[in-house]
Order: sequence, then structure tokens, then C-alpha cells
Amino acid sequence: MAAQQITLQERPSGASVDEQIRLIAAGGAGDTCSSDLADAPWSFDQVPGYGPGSSMGDVIPAGAPRQGELPVRYRTASDEELTERIVAAKQTLGDRVVILGHFYQRDEVVQHADYVGDSFQLAQAAKAHPEAEAIVFCGVHFMAETADLLSGPTQKVILPNLAAGCSMADMADIDQVEDCWEQLADVLGDLDTPDEDGLLPVIPVTYMNSSAAIKGFVGRHGGIVCTSSNARTVLDWAFQRGRRVLFFPDQHLGRNTAKAMGVSLDQMPMWNPNRPLGGSSAEEIAEGRVILWHGFCSVHRRFTVDQIDKARAEHPGVRVIVHPESPMAVVDAADESGSTDVIRRAIEGATEPTTFAIGTEINLVQRLAAQNPQHEIFCLDPVVCPCSTMYRIHPGYLAWVLEGLVDGTVQNQIEVPDAVADPARVALERMLEAKPS
Ligand code: SF4
Repeated sequence: MAAQQITLQERPSGASVDEQIRLIAAGGAGDTCSSDLADAPWSFDQVPGYGPGSSMGDVIPAGAPRQGELPVRYRTASDEELTERIVAAKQTLGDRVVILGHFYQRDEVVQHADYVGDSFQLAQAAKAHPEAEAIVFCGVHFMAETADLLSGPTQKVILPNLAAGCSMADMADIDQVEDCWEQLADVLGDLDTPDEDGLLPVIPVTYMNSSAAIKGFVGRHGGIVCTSSNARTVLDWAFQRGRRVLFFPDQHLGRNTAKAMGVSLDQMPMWNPNRPLGGSSAEEIAEGRVILWHGFCSVHRRFTVDQIDKARAEHPGVRVIVHPESPMAVVDAADESGSTDVIRRAIEGATEPTTFAIGTEINLVQRLAAQNPQHEIFCLDPVVCPCSTMYRIHPGYLAWVLEGLVDGTVQNQIEVPDAVADPARVALERMLEAKPS
């Protein structure tokens, strides 16, 4: 199967992020947030925490999945050998397997993907291949769960490394969200009964970057899922049905979207799950329009207004585009903001040679730079600091799960239980049906 065009068609010619980090660790020019990134991810499978990279300072939940030991033949294989093994296994499996690669994956993995895209594009790609027995999702845990929700009942979704979670998704735990809901009911009354205008007191909206359990919660409570591409449409949908929105897990996407819709900042109380009433007063909750969960992406939180100022000073005429998971001040200071797909299309659509400073994950930025040599493209953050959990997927694990399939063994299957899957699909279907107003 040739790589599909949501997507990349060939491996870029420039140095990959992995190669660049190895050069930095060996004393070359540049800087990285952790020289441990030069080590293979299996070095960290027995170590608690998210591992090196942007989430290394985040607290991982106690029950977060851990990856077992990768067999030694994959840990000791050379890069070339792993490539040969993956190519051979893919050839043997043919249409029985589809490999999905997220934009933020290392090039060494992306080169084997049948589809490359953002989380939702990849979930749709999974849905488009009912003939495949297995879907190998080179991304993070919530993405594999979403693929399982949307794929056929007999298809197996595989996450090559179980430690590839997402620190942002982990910031909204189902127990915390249930507790928040109860506290909101104490302030706002019965949350399931509409008022005289037919509006519910609060509509829960979860970003795609959340666990299936959270999507299920949202589905059970009249809520909806959003992506970074459709957050505004989804908030419109929610405001047609409720007085206010509880938005999780990413405060920045919620704030940036609501602000662009004209919601004032004092109508966006914060909900910190570790504090009574989320740290807000009952009045602030009652008067709020969008209650923001205290979550964030540690990749996109690295971007700053100072970086934008520096880019403009050093590159007059630079076009600054950032992802809406970035802090509000950064989005406000940028020329544009949008999802990974918006960023990709903006670059590919520029008809004149242009300098772009991009605020999103480094693997995607460097790949876009290699694919678009007519432009100068660089990451706003000068420190090479990839997503810790995307980094956990490596060709060694990909070779392991593919050769397992060749031998008839399904490893690292991600399965969402029906009790969660049914309401989670309802929330996803609402999103698919929501139309821009
Ligand atoms: S880039 Fe951010 S939101 Fe995406 S997987 Fe990494 S931590 Fe999670």
C-alpha cells in the first residue's frame, strides 16, 4: 500500500530529529531539552515517568500503562536491519495490516506508514479499511482508542509501545471529571434538566486528546468531542444546547477558541481538579460561559512571545503560525494559528518563497522544512524537544508488532470496553454531524 495523501509521499532528505539529537548529544551545534533523547526508547520502558522530551516534568498517573521488555533481537538490530524487517513483514501481511503514522512521529517510523496525518484523519483512515485485520497506530494511546472506536468490531488496533500515552490526556482523569460534575451540580442544580429556554446548565466538551473514558462521559451527558480544526463549530453546537461549557483537557485550545468567539476572559473560570470547586468561586462558575479544565500540552506550552519577537527581529517578513494548544499570548502574537493540517496547508499553499516560524512539534516542523525547500521553515523553539510520548514509538517496536502479526500473535492491542465505547461513539458522531453556523 502506498502512503496516502493526507500525508507525505516520500521521506524528506534533511536530517531527521533523531539524527539531529544524536549530533547534539555528541557535542554538535544546537541544544536539546534532554540528551537522553539520543538513547533508544526501550531504555526508559522500566523507568517511571513519561521519559525524556517535553513531558518529562509532568506527573504521570500511577496506573499509566507500561511497556514490557522488547525482545533483545529488536533492541540490538541496526537501523537498516529494522527497516528491512518492517518492509518484509509489511509485504507478507499485505492488505491485512494498515500502518498509521501521526505527524509528530519520528521520520524513521513515518517512512513505513500507509497514512500520515493528525489524530482524527488517522482514525478516519482506520475506518476506511474494513478489510484490514490489524491497524498499527504509530501515535499515542488516546489515538489508538479512537481508532478502535471507529474501526470494525473484529479489527485489532495495535499501539507499538504501551508507554506512548499523552500527558495532556492524562490531566483529565475520569474520576476527577465525575467529581467535577458533582460539584458543578451543587452550584448549578440538576445538570440533566433543561431550563425554560430548553438549555442545559452545562455541556461537556472534550478535545479529541482525551481518553475513551472521558469521551464516554461526554457522550452520556449530552456532550461532544472536538478537534483543533473544528473547536469553534463544536462550541457553537454546545452553546445552542447549554448555558455554559465545561471544556477539557486543554485549557489553551478552550480559551483561544472561546476568546475568538467573543467570550470574555472573566467568563472563563479555571477548573483545577486538585482544588475545591476547581479553585473558582460559585459565582465565577455560575457566571462562566466556558469552564476551562487545568490541562495543557507540554510541547505547545514551550512556545513564547519572546520567541516570536526574536523570529521577527531576525527574519523580517517572517510568517508566524502556531498551534492553538499554545498559550493565548502566543496565539495572539502570532500571525496565524491552526491545527497541524492548517499549518501544513498554509505552507504548501504559499506561492512565493516565504520564511515560516512554526509553533508545533519539532518532527512535523522539520519534515515540512525538508519537503518544502522553496521556503525557509524553522521551529519557534530553538531547543530540540520532541513530544516525550510520541518519541516512545520506534522502528524496533514496529518491527516487533508486525512480525508478531506475521506469526499470528497480536501484541499491544488497544480495546475500549463496550460500556465506554457506545457513549464515546455518540459523542464522536455528534461532532461529525455538527455543522458550522
Ligand atoms: S504533542 Fe501534546 S497533546 Fe500531542 S501527544 Fe504529545 S503531549 Fe499529548
